[in-house]
Amino acid sequence: TLAAFPKKIELATEDDATSVLKINALNIGDNVNSSPHIVGGYQYKSSARSYKSRNSLDNADVAKLKPRKKLTLDPTQECTPNKGHSDRIRVYVRIRPISKKEKEVGARCCVKAANGKEIYLTEMALESDYLRLKRLKGRYFIFDGAFPENTNQEEVYRTSTEQLVEAVLEGKNSSVFCYGATGAGKTFTMLGTMKDPGVMVLALKDLFAKLKQRSSEGEHSVRLSYLEVYNETVRDLLSPGRALVLREDLKQGIVAAGLTQYKACSADEVMALLQQGNQNRTTEPTRLNETSSRSHAILQIFVEYSARVGVSLVSRTGKLSLIDLAGSERAIATDQRTLRSLEGANINRSLLALSSCISALVEGKKHIPFRNSKLTQLLKDSLGGSCQTAMIANISPSNMSFGETQNTLYWADRAKEIRTKGCVTN
Ligand code: ADP
Ligand code: MG
Repeated sequence: TLAAFPKKIELATEDDATSVLKINALNIGDNVNSSPHIVGGYQYKSSARSYKSRNSLDNADVAKLKPRKKLTLDPTQECTPNKGHSDRIRVYVRIRPISKKEKEVGARCCVKAANGKEIYLTEMALESDYLRLKRLKGRYFIFDGAFPENTNQEEVYRTSTEQLVEAVLEGKNSSVFCYGATGAGKTFTMLGTMKDPGVMVLALKDLFAKLKQRSSEGEHSVRLSYLEVYNETVRDLLSPGRALVLREDLKQGIVAAGLTQYKACSADEVMALLQQGNQNRTTEPTRLNETSSRSHAILQIFVEYSARVGVSLVSRTGKLSLIDLAGSERAIATDQRTLRSLEGANINRSLLALSSCISALVEGKKHIPFRNSKLTQLLKDSLGGSCQTAMIANISPSNMSFGETQNTLYWADRAKEIRTKGCVTN
């Protein structure tokens, strides 16, 4: 069980202490009974039992790893996320349950969440795949939160988004993203199902509950818009029609001209509205039954507050943007060089631009290239600066998605380093 994961972890080198712990080095194929041997720098004593247990990441296997040079680190103390940085961006990882289809094709679990914040990733090489044997390695990450497979929607909402709803009530702008490959659980996390509503619906539900408590303080009104960015075209998901043009408004910032804003009164009515909106998301010609893996859906919730204090009128508006991003599988790039080479290919410009903005924010650059895409233009007032952001990286537990999971985790690991102080937006 998860609790059995070692609290104190022995690391091989000081470098590893920053974010990476090589953990798993399991024998495969012919090597089942040879022991001990060294893989990935670790001496690992194999046994018949470990052969059996390689079907999943086993705590006993992790505990058995012997690093060459000992250095003890308590990850919860030494590796706190955002150390030295602002806590305005929080990064969470959610592992979805393994699917029936994955089980049927013999997929095994290659990732595990532990102690609320830790993610362990281990490559389970296929027996026939000899070359991958050489690259067998494990990784260890710490985030602001790590949600295991059995985490429910309410828990994800409370941990990642509730505090942002509070911020919006105070007139601040905040944003929540779901990032990850297609099928990793982004839409489930954001929208959810009628039976099991996700962050978008739970945030609105909670917002109405909080407003009820504050009803004596002044007037509040809630408006919402639901839009899509697909192929650099912005469309209204609640009132589908022609493409919308983005323009800069002195007071409101970047706005999509003609976008409908709904006055919302209850969360139930909103769920039906959003489900309807999701039906309007663009589908790719080759995958007619699926909502597109290349479209970004953005729910904007505006909370306007006004009250009379003495003789003057106090008013403020906060905006919460909840974003179900396009699948990251074709646009994963963690460094500028890869970003540029990918930009030449006709892949998702908005997702790449978002990665560039995050890179620029991570590096503490003065100029953040928000203008490079429709998505980043729309997020200009909700990312960086004094805005609070929650990033939920969604991953599949299956070893068949290992590459995508690894890329998503690297991306998320980098995102948590964002410094929001001193950024100048263009
Ligand atoms: P994405 O939007 O990232 O492409 P989806 O949210 O559509 O992925 O998830 C893919 C499938 O997995 C869907 O059938 C969804 O219902 C299911 N799923 C995803 N996350 C969970 C979860 N946490 N619990 C149960 N089912 C999930
Ligand atoms: Mg989706």
